[in-house]
Amino acid sequence: MTPPPVFSFDNSYARLPDRLFARVRPTPVRWPRLWKLNDGLARELGLETSTLSQPEAARLFSGNELPAGAEPLALAYAGHQFGSFVPQLGDGRAILLGEVVGRDGKRRDIQLKGAGPTPFSRRGDGRAALGPVLREYVVSEAMAALGVPTTRALAAVTTGEWVARDKELPGAVITRVAASHLRVGTFQYFAVRRDTEALASLTTYALDRHFPEADRAAGEGLALLDAVIEAQANLVARWLGLGFVHGVMNTDNTAISGETLDYGPCAFLDEYHPQKKYSSIDHGGRYAFERQPDIALWNLGRLAESLSPLVSDDAERALAVAREHLARFQPRFQELHLAVLRSKLGLARAEDGDRALAADLFGLLASSEVDFTLFFRRLCDAAEDERADHRVAALFREPESFAGWARAWRARLHREDERPDARAAAMRRQNPAFIPRNHRIEEMIHAAITKADRGPFEALLRTLSRPYDDQPGAEHLAEPPRAHERVTQTFCGT
Ligand code: AMP
Ligand code: MG
Repeated sequence: MTPPPVFSFDNSYARLPDRLFARVRPTPVRWPRLWKLNDGLARELGLETSTLSQPEAARLFSGNELPAGAEPLALAYAGHQFGSFVPQLGDGRAILLGEVVGRDGKRRDIQLKGAGPTPFSRRGDGRAALGPVLREYVVSEAMAALGVPTTRALAAVTTGEWVARDKELPGAVITRVAASHLRVGTFQYFAVRRDTEALASLTTYALDRHFPEADRAAGEGLALLDAVIEAQANLVARWLGLGFVHGVMNTDNTAISGETLDYGPCAFLDEYHPQKKYSSIDHGGRYAFERQPDIALWNLGRLAESLSPLVSDDAERALAVAREHLARFQPRFQELHLAVLRSKLGLARAEDGDRALAADLFGLLASSEVDFTLFFRRLCDAAEDERADHRVAALFREPESFAGWARAWRARLHREDERPDARAAAMRRQNPAFIPRNHRIEEMIHAAITKADRGPFEALLRTLSRPYDDQPGAEHLAEPPRAHERVTQTFCGT
């Protein structure tokens, strides 16, 4: 008797006009071995993994064996990379196997990243190295546990092959799960080709798939633009609340769904600084921490331009209307970001002075180079009991600089009648104890590729699955790096 299929595929993208993608099969690898299968996610997706053996799983998640019902494709897209337009990018090393509808009723893409060349590979080898695969696995799963919209990691396999980068590195494939892989760059690809028909089908598809409740009365182009403005404003507000720096917010890495997409040179802030950037290729700081909302808006501008043929036949009118809609981004982002900050500070109600209170704090954090995550976590204790203040103050160069701000904060807290323990508990659900710290990620990758040691990977994954809980025994994963452990630069590893 043949076992039931692992995936119940229903491939809606493959039913769209075929100029939206290229059909291509994964290229088998020499010696696939399962590094990790995400059982929890597999269950959420309703996958049938009960009869799956390790060798079988490795064959499926490396692309060596195509699961029943898969219709593998590489997606066409364009994109602005660091501000320069590239009319053809596309999946050069990622292959969509198909879509599944999870137990929550949501449709998701199952994609193999590192599965071999495609018609979009240009000079690339279509492969991925183990380091970036493990980084994406851990950081995307951490983001999910932190409650941030994100793609997920279903599996990682090693390939038994080497990939040539600066040096030879062990190869791997990650199975990425996404609400979809539609990006701003997908729309740009058809806009630059003046293919309005494809734009219209993509727009209908995106609305049906991601924003079925959107009001389409003013036309589908504007409906989609409004929905993506909201999704991106929310996403970037969440990033800023956690100190996340995406690192490569090109339009081809900006998901229409509003999920965090593409974990390349991303990083979490250790010490707070608004202009902080980590990516080795972001020379001008285009994608620095505090620039992210402006860049999101810039990317939305490119989406608006791409959708403008659907807004009006009169190009100038279309752009004028799009500009009006784009103007809603900044105030909306501000509102969402302030809501995030209020919850981090333990404020249940809104008051006019809240933005200034937060701005004063960020000024102090920057000038004292205070660890972002540790500060807010310790502030939860201070909200419960003033006797914990000295542990917060100890994070500053001059402890008195915290005391002044703390007086203003306490006066503000006293105008609400929340119980201190309840307030602190609520704050601990907004201010994680654990984030994927850059030095711990590097350490995990080093252990994996030099010693085939999976211990640090498993420990990070386990701890980061409950980022808002104190976890005795895992304190070393909560602490900031010591001077010699600091990571100052990250690499995209393509
Ligand atoms: P990324 O930096 O991963 O967003 O990739 C940007 C573009 O480069 C996309 O079109 C990728 O498919 C392509 N790309 C990145 N790495 C490779 C690779 N190793 N082989 C082929 N294409 C790649
Ligand atoms: Mg990308």
